[in-house]
Formats: sequence, C-alpha cells, structure tokens
Amino acid sequence: MARYTGPKCRYCRAERTKLFLKGERCHSGKCPMNDTKSTGLPGKDPRARSKKPTDYGLQLREKQKLKRTYCMLEKQFKLTFDEAARIPGKTGENLIMLLEQRLDNVVFRLHFAASRNQAAQFVNHGHIFVNGKRVSIPSYRLRPGDVVSVGVKGQKMLMIKENLKEYTKSGVCQWLSLDVDAMKGTFVAVPRRSEVTELEKINEQLVVELYSR
Ligand code: SF4
Repeated sequence: MARYTGPKCRYCRAERTKLFLKGERCHSGKCPMNDTKSTGLPGKDPRARSKKPTDYGLQLREKQKLKRTYCMLEKQFKLTFDEAARIPGKTGENLIMLLEQRLDNVVFRLHFAASRNQAAQFVNHGHIFVNGKRVSIPSYRLRPGDVVSVGVKGQKMLMIKENLKEYTKSGVCQWLSLDVDAMKGTFVAVPRRSEVTELEKINEQLVVELYSR
C-alpha cells in the first residue's frame, strides 16, 4: 500500500500543532515544535505566513490534521468519510468513531506501539492478532469485545516491551482494557466523541463542510 515516507515533522509544522507522529521523540526535547524558530510553515514563501485563511483553507487544514493524525492517505480517508455519512447520526462524530475502531489505532492506544505509524508496521508484519487470529490489515475495523494481542514473536521484541513499559504509566483509554503481562487488550466499546480527548481541539464539522462542497 502506498504511504507517505517523507519527514513527518513537516506535517506538524504545516498544521502548527504537535500530531505525535514519531513516538518517543515527540515527548522529548528533540521535538522541533518545542523550538519556536522551527515551528514556521514548511517552505519558504513568506506570503503563506501572512495570508488570512479562507473558509476553504480552514476546512482543508482541519481535514489534513485529522487525516495525518491517523496516518491515512486521502483516498482511504475519503472512503471512511463516505461510510460515516451513510451511518445515522452526526457524520463528523461517526467519522471519528470509525477512525478509532481501526486496528492500528487500537494497537497504538494499547501502547504496543509508540506511534500509529509503528502500529501499522507491527500489523503489516504479522505481529498482531485479533481474537487469536493473525490480522495484517492496519485498517481492520474492531468491534466491541474484540481481543487484540501480540503474537509469540512480537512478545520477544524489545521495542514492544519498552513501549509497554514506557507508555502504560499514563494508563489506557477508558474504552479499552489492557493486560500488560499477557500483552493483550480488549476493545470494550466504541468511544463517544467526548471521550476522545486527544482530538478535543479538532472541529470535525469543518471536515464535513469541506466534503459537502
Ligand atoms: Fe510532530 Fe513528533 Fe515531529 Fe514533534 S517530533 S514535530 S510531535 S512528529
């Protein structure tokens, strides 16, 4: 599957916010967003800094922020949006619920991986099992009650062990449960929009307006 392989910090600079795309580095002093000199927009055009954003510009930025947070490409993101639009209820909230149900997102939220990119890699490499069966599709949609675990090979990987040691200090999201010793977690329920606090600054309605043009 095609994916963006360029510098990820560029995305944070473009959105002028930390998107936490590089795991440990994002929480360290090495994050360039901590340095006010390097937090400008990527590229050299000074006009880009002074322009007042249009409605379209604001909507586009919000969509890019959400898409990049979940490490998705445009086509896949749009397909997810279309599906959210078909589900009864608010499309913006449905979109976030569908994004949260992705296997790579849950692997990241269970702290098996330090970032969603790393989580997708673990899934692609066959280290992740759902209800005892190997699943190698990062976009696989989890249902309430599904059990996500690390395979035997993965359990020996130092990287996964260190991720669990480092990040479980902050606990897991309330819609998940985690057994650290067994390297196994359960997707207990689909979260409500208000529970996804990481996205509290995202206005998903702008994404809906963008795609409704
Ligand atoms: Fe963004 Fe992480 Fe890079 Fe900081 S280190 S700019 S949060 S990807």
